[in-house]
Amino acid sequence: MPTQIEIVPCLSDNYAYLVKSGGQCAIVDPSEAAPVRAALARTGWTLTHILNTHHHLDHCGGNLDLKQETGAKVVGPGKDAARIPGLDVGVDESTGWEFDGRKVQVLEVPAHTRGAITFVIDSNAFTGDTLFTLGCGRLFEGDPQMMWTSLSKLMTLPDDTKVWCGHEYTQSNGRFALTLEPHNAALKARMEEVNAARDAGRPTVPSTIGLEKKTNPFLRPASAEIRKSLGMERAGDVAVFGEIRARKDKF
Ligand code: ZN
Ligand code: FE
Repeated sequence: MPTQIEIVPCLSDNYAYLVKSGGQCAIVDPSEAAPVRAALARTGWTLTHILNTHHHLDHCGGNLDLKQETGAKVVGPGKDAARIPGLDVGVDESTGWEFDGRKVQVLEVPAHTRGAITFVIDSNAFTGDTLFTLGCGRLFEGDPQMMWTSLSKLMTLPDDTKVWCGHEYTQSNGRFALTLEPHNAALKARMEEVNAARDAGRPTVPSTIGLEKKTNPFLRPASAEIRKSLGMERAGDVAVFGEIRARKDKF
């Protein structure tokens, strides 16, 4: 049974995702219950699981209402059990998870938060606020080395892995990316598509790991153009990554 994925816009720029396979249906990162309720009514799907990539309320604020209404089990980072509302099943890299009889890879990707995880279901990576399309999350509970290690882990996924991230930030991320790599042809082409999608009110997810590697500056500290833009031709990858993150914080 192929996996079906429905984008569920929440709050002002969050995305939750309904993931359906056989008799199971999960919602990833429900910020709030109402839009998820509406999506379930529209699809006719019965919620069985609530998945959280990290503890921030704009990713798990809908947990308790949805759990109470549907009896769905809450699955999230075991290392952050105390901060995930209603957590039933704590998972990590060693436990993984199982969804409709298939193995789900759980990657521990700390730095935005200490417990942050990415679920990989078939070829779909739910990256929360760790890897964004054309960006990465802020370093609230980690440092550049930690985030670079986490992003490097995500970069080992096959290039055709789809990236479903926690927010619609692509357009502003891309504007920042172009300040560092104005001559990156793949980035320029992508931004034309992103701008057209946003003008039409369409989401810019999913992306792919392969496309992010070609266009996302946070995955490209080795880029000669980025290094030249930063005046850091001879620095290490972590130092360059840290400088990109620091500049984005002020962009
Ligand atoms: Zn967050
Ligand atoms: Fe968030």
